[in-house]
Amino acid sequence: MRGSIVLFGPPGAGKGTQAEIIVEMTGKPQISTGDMLRSAVSQGSALGLEAKEYMESGQLVPDQVIIGLIQDRLEDPDASNGVLFDGFPRTIHQAEALSEIAEVSAVIAIEVPDEEIVNRIVGRRMDPETGEIYHVSFKPPPPELISRLVQRKDDNEDTVRMRLAAYHDQTKPLGDWYSNMGILSTIDGTGSIEEVSKSVAKAVRSL
Ligand code: ADP
Ligand code: ADP
Repeated sequence: MRGSIVLFGPPGAGKGTQAEIIVEMTGKPQISTGDMLRSAVSQGSALGLEAKEYMESGQLVPDQVIIGLIQDRLEDPDASNGVLFDGFPRTIHQAEALSEIAEVSAVIAIEVPDEEIVNRIVGRRMDPETGEIYHVSFKPPPPELISRLVQRKDDNEDTVRMRLAAYHDQTKPLGDWYSNMGILSTIDGTGSIEEVSKSVAKAVRSL
């Protein structure tokens, strides 16, 4: 498939976790706007300074900032045969802008209810050296790595409620938008990581 794939779902649904198998199966590079923004924040760039407060308060970063970031990234040579978008687009405006610069061939939506999202988010830990995502209960890290793992500043219960509100208000309507275009596959994200991976792999094979 030449076009791009969008991985869609609420915060903590398992997009980053499941991106791995899609990258393996399709060879398309993963583009995570969240990872790009966090790297800008840690470098202290102008973009990072602009994005930081929105991210820490659980609000979406303004569309024009995100669209500029994606436009630049899509000019890299590895993006020429389509990419895997993780966490983008998050508003109808972003999706409209994307439709003018790239072809979206498929959208894979991972569905998880809000209460489960909160459990997943507060237990999430990341290995800053490898980028691997763990969970204190659902994907326990190897003991020797525990001391170097980090928790995201926005992965606390109060901020996740704000992020969920932003998701329901601004992002969820996009699911219907893509469904009307006939390119949405919906996946039950509530099983174990392995079970969800099997459903994701099946959806990718049927594209
Ligand atoms: P997203 O990229 O959608 O924000 P992540 O992939 O980072 O989500 O997953 C959020 C947290 O939930 C991580 O700690 C991850 O290990 C955990 N997780 C992911 N998928 C599952 C699953 N199917 N069951 C239980 N925990 C999961
Ligand atoms: P998660 O999927 O766990 O919510 P992300 O890493 O995708 O986390 O996003 C973290 C934060 O970065 C979001 O809460 C938001 O502030 C910002 N962000 C990431 N992607 C976008 C986007 N496409 N549009 C607007 N804000 C974004």
